Amino acid sequence: MQSIMRLVILGAPGAGKGTQAVILSKKLQIPHISTGDIFRSNIKNETPLGKLAKQYIDSGALVPDEVTVGIVKDRLAEPDCINGFILDGFPRTIRQAETLDRMLEELGTKLDMVIDIEAGDDIIIKRLTGRRVCPECTAIYHLRTSETARRGICEKCGAKLIQREDDSEETVKNRLKTYHDQTEPLISYYEGKGLLVRVGGEGSAADTTAEIYQVLGLTE
Ligand code: ADP
Ligand code: ZN
Repeated sequence: MQSIMRLVILGAPGAGKGTQAVILSKKLQIPHISTGDIFRSNIKNETPLGKLAKQYIDSGALVPDEVTVGIVKDRLAEPDCINGFILDGFPRTIRQAETLDRMLEELGTKLDMVIDIEAGDDIIIKRLTGRRVCPECTAIYHLRTSETARRGICEKCGAKLIQREDDSEETVKNRLKTYHDQTEPLISYYEGKGLLVRVGGEGSAADTTAEIYQVLGLTE
């Protein structure tokens, strides 16, 4: 039996947070909570939240905290989070991190570990502009490493792959600026709490997974 794990995955856009979170979620049998996926599914379904979020996301800015915090709070209160969770894309500002601490305190719990996936801007720009995603099941592929990406059809569900609108070069550069200004300070925030573990994000996804398994004491 796995012990309960409450994890945050940090990292720049394109460092591989989503990819690793999906793998860990399966391995640990705990929910993967991606604020980006929640926004994208609302955009796809043209909900009021989706319409609001889209303006920010398409320019590489952050969705306002008032909106984002409520979504995460509701999600963490759902019963499947009792056994742990993996937060991907939240928190993204110091204010969100402080709010998360309070939310968890109210739920009588706290984070166990924050995993920072580290990768430099040059690698990230190459990666994101070559990324293709499945709009139906959120699977992620890359033109350079995946035959599926080049074929353009999701191997999990058969949907036609797309490029995220915010993966255009200009928006990627804005997202990186937003990351350095607003999210990177979280590394010191969690280091100060003794929760931070760093893993390399410049190699293959499998290399990063191996490092994460090691820090979590998991076997393949
Ligand atoms: P990435 O980490 O690759 O940028 P995400 O899917 O996590 O991608 O997020 C996509 C976009 O959704 C972000 O650029 C931002 O506009 C918005 N977003 C996601 N999570 C948050 C958050 N916690 N706070 C504010 N905006 C967010
Ligand atoms: Zn799919």
